[in-house]
Amino acid sequence: MIGLFGGSGIYEALDLEGVREEQVQTPFGDPSAPLSIGFLGETEIAFLPRHGRDHQFSPTDVPYRANVHALKQVGATRIVSSNAVGSLREDLPPRTIVVPDRIFDRTSKRTSSFFEGEAGEGIVVHTGFADPYCPHLTEHLAEAASDALTGNSDAEAGESTDDSADGAEGTETAAGGTYVCIEGPQFSTRAESDFYRAQGFDLVGMTAIPEAKLAREAELCYATLAGVTDYDVWHDREVSLEEVLENAAANRESITAALRRAIETLPEERDCDCEHAIAGAINTPAEAIPAETRDRLSVLVGDYL
Ligand SMILES: [Zn+2]
Repeated sequence: MIGLFGGSGIYEALDLEGVREEQVQTPFGDPSAPLSIGFLGETEIAFLPRHGRDHQFSPTDVPYRANVHALKQVGATRIVSSNAVGSLREDLPPRTIVVPDRIFDRTSKRTSSFFEGEAGEGIVVHTGFADPYCPHLTEHLAEAASDALTGNSDAEAGESTDDSADGAEGTETAAGGTYVCIEGPQFSTRAESDFYRAQGFDLVGMTAIPEAKLAREAELCYATLAGVTDYDVWHDREVSLEEVLENAAANRESITAALRRAIETLPEERDCDCEHAIAGAINTPAEAIPAETRDRLSVLVGDYL
C-alpha cells in the first residue's frame, strides 16, 4: 500500500476505485482527516489531506506524527507527498515539477520524532537521516515525472530537462535539489531568500520536515513531487497568495499525471534500506523502556523489542 499526502484536488483527480473511508486513531492523536483508501489498478492507495479537508491546519499545526503513524497503521510501506514550493533558481520557473533529494531544516516549532515527549517517554532512538528521501523512490518518481510530463527520462540529478521537450503537457521536470523547509506560515524575507540562494538551495517549502523524519522512523519510504508555485522573494517582487494558488492549480494536473505513472510502474518489492531504518538505532536497553511506552509504540518498534 502507498500512502499519499497532498491536496484534495490531487486525490479527486486520481479517481480511485472502491474507496472507503477510515477514521484512524493513533497514539499521537487524530490525523488531519479520515483516510480515504482505494485502488489505482492493483495498488492500494491511502490518501490523507495533510492540512485537513478544509485546509485548517497551518504548516506548524499539522498533526504530522498522527498522519505518518496512521499510514503505517493501515499498512502503507511507502509515502509519496506532494508539495507546493517556491523556487530559488531562475531555471526552475513556476509550474516546474521537481523531485528533491536533499533537505535543509529551518523549522523551529515542530515535534519531529515519535521518540520524544510524553508518548515516547523513556526510549531514545537515533535514526540515520543523511539522505532524508528514500533514494529509490526518489529516482523512481523523478523518472515517472519526466516520462509522464516531458517524455524525456534522461534528466540528470540537479538539472532541469530542456524546455523544448514535446511531451503532452509540455511541463518541465527536474530531478534532485535541496528543499529548505521553513517554519512559515509567512513566506521568507528577502534576506532569508538571498541567504538560501547563496547556500545553493533550490526550493523552499513548509512541510517536508518533520514528515520525512517521521517516515524514516516509521521505516517507510518517503519521496516528494514538488510543484513550483512562485520564485520566492529573491526575484525582487512580493509573493502573493493569488499567484501561488493559480500555479498550484496548474501543478495539480502535472503532479497527478506523474503520480499515476509512478504508481503504475512502481516495483512491488522495496529495494532500499528504509524498512530497516531503526534496526540498531534504539539506544535504550529494551528492559529499561517503560512497558506503557513499548505498548504505545508497538506499531513502530514492536519488531525490535
Ligand atoms: Zn525506501
